[in-house]
Amino acid sequence: MLILVINCGSSSIKYELFDIEKEKPLAKGVVDRIGDDLSTLTFEVEGDMRVDRKEPCSDHQRAIELIKDVLTDSESGVLKDASEVRGVGHRVVHGGEEFTSSVLVDDKVLASVEKFAALAPLHNPPSLAGIKGCMEIFRDVPQVAVFDTAFHQTMPPRAFFYGIPREYYLKYGVRRYGFHGTSHRYVAQKASDILERPLSELNLITVHLGNGCSITAVERGKSVDTSMGFTPLEGLLMGTRSGDIDPAAVIYLMEKENMAPKEMNAMLNKESGLLGVSGKSNDMRDLLAEIKKGDKKSELALEIFIYRVIKYAGAYSAVLGRVDAVVFTGGIGENVPEIKTRVEERLGQLLGDATAFLTVATDEELFIARDTYSVICGK
Ligand code: ADP
Repeated sequence: MLILVINCGSSSIKYELFDIEKEKPLAKGVVDRIGDDLSTLTFEVEGDMRVDRKEPCSDHQRAIELIKDVLTDSESGVLKDASEVRGVGHRVVHGGEEFTSSVLVDDKVLASVEKFAALAPLHNPPSLAGIKGCMEIFRDVPQVAVFDTAFHQTMPPRAFFYGIPREYYLKYGVRRYGFHGTSHRYVAQKASDILERPLSELNLITVHLGNGCSITAVERGKSVDTSMGFTPLEGLLMGTRSGDIDPAAVIYLMEKENMAPKEMNAMLNKESGLLGVSGKSNDMRDLLAEIKKGDKKSELALEIFIYRVIKYAGAYSAVLGRVDAVVFTGGIGENVPEIKTRVEERLGQLLGDATAFLTVATDEELFIARDTYSVICGK
């Protein structure tokens, strides 16, 4: 069965087509700079870049149309007809408290995704546009929504409540939701495969270090705490996000610098993290190159980055009591072995030899495709 996975950002759509019974990726690509005068479109089959061109693309629906066209192109495509796609899986960032697993999209689901746009104003609207576009263009094909927040809905109240008056939770849904759920779930399953023990018997700490970074305590296959919160800003130091900061410092700076909420939001989300501390880059590869040249600020940025991972991993070890494995993933987690080594040095002493330290390549698209298949087939 062929499943198309769609991952919409505000100005880009990543897509990947799978033969899901074989778990085989057939084609993938990106439409980037949607809304600009010229957007870019790529289409790749088994590492062979068959299309890489620029052309106008006004909105997400048009982008989906372009994706359908490259997939079914008589020369370079992989499908004879769009009807060969039997399901479309969509990554949706925010599912609030309503979605604890992936669901078939219907009008009610669409309305909820729209409702939760209030909580994820940058992420849910493009997902909604992508789903609606696919409903138009891949007509009569089941659409499945896979939520970043769903995996974390098993967190107990003591982990998801903030210490503020309860009325704000009731009125506005202010609580910890957590994100990167598909990635944490995927690598937890992988760790169980590697360790050859059922997930339901394992306690894991999964560490996703990409542009965004988060860490999750997974008890017997269920998320019981995670570092991202009401939004993806909380927790670890990230590429451009601050992670944890005393809220009083935020208020103080807003007063001192006469900053509007929008400006403060941009500062914390786009100008902070590795970029803010190093003053050089948000990209780990650049920072490692700067450190080699002797740049002290970049070194400090890396130190803070690793320190926070150690601190959270230590805290989650206490939450879990026993830890069978600490699992690293994401662009940084998979490619910078020093981070795993440093965490292992500290935590190994605490946890003892029974804890494995693993690196696992995440594959959120494959996970979304699997989930889409099981929702459609009712498995
Ligand atoms: P996203 O969260 O957007 O999916 P990724 O998981 O691809 O991002 O992670 C991007 C981060 O991974 C960047 O900081 C990048 O520098 C880093 N990264 C990717 N490859 C390497 C590498 N070979 N060595 C060091 N850092 C890497």
